[in-house]
Amino acid sequence: MSDPALRVRDLKKHYPDPGGGRMLALDVPSLDVGRGEALCMRGESGSGKTTLLNVIAGILPADEGTVEIAGERMTGLSETRRDALRARHIGYLFQTFNLLPGLTALENVQLGMSFRPRHGASPRKAASDALDRVGLADRKRHRPAQLSVGQQQRVAIARALAGHPTLVLADEPTSNLDRNLADQCMELLTSFAAESEAALLVVTHDETLLERFERVETLAAPVGSPA
Ligand code: ADP
Ligand code: MG
Repeated sequence: MSDPALRVRDLKKHYPDPGGGRMLALDVPSLDVGRGEALCMRGESGSGKTTLLNVIAGILPADEGTVEIAGERMTGLSETRRDALRARHIGYLFQTFNLLPGLTALENVQLGMSFRPRHGASPRKAASDALDRVGLADRKRHRPAQLSVGQQQRVAIARALAGHPTLVLADEPTSNLDRNLADQCMELLTSFAAESEAALLVVTHDETLLERFERVETLAAPVGSPA
């Protein structure tokens, strides 16, 4: 049997606090996401949602515990190796999109997936296909500033999904969008992930997203952390 897309055990992350001590920001005893499964993790502001995704993706190192992506250990690796493991398996949809302003839509998507195994297609073809899939076939040469907010979000979705990642992480994907755009974005994200057989982990405080997911869990702020 193949390993799950994500396996987390006894994961803890602290931040320095202004008093010179350290504060527990994340405490997750156990979390698994199966291959192709979609999970919505709800949590109040400050509960550690962004920290959780950053530690899973290896953008931040963990202090304790383990993260495995498709059976490969993320925790304990050097930053360079974490970057490589992330590039191979993970698509990340950032809360503020994080598109590079000097690059076209096509270049942004291509850059985002350039280290991912690609089932044969060239990076440019895979990026182009992903933009077709999100309805931006006629916007590939536009730069982010030449696109509407909804179109920028679709470029970010294409970048996260292009080239068949094992796991897609989405940080509050609707927080910068009005209700109508939020619905379109979630429809696109969940359907594209399902087609790609990517596991999807969405973190949010937006309760209206929950009904789209068969599986919903709650991230509790660690005991003793400030409200
Ligand atoms: P969420 O995404 O759920 O709003 P975060 O993961 O951003 O929560 O933050 C969790 C907790 O860690 C919060 O109490 C926040 O103030 C704190 N925190 C986040 N980033 C830092 C940082 N770089 N330095 C110190 N504390 C931080
Ligand atoms: Mg956050």
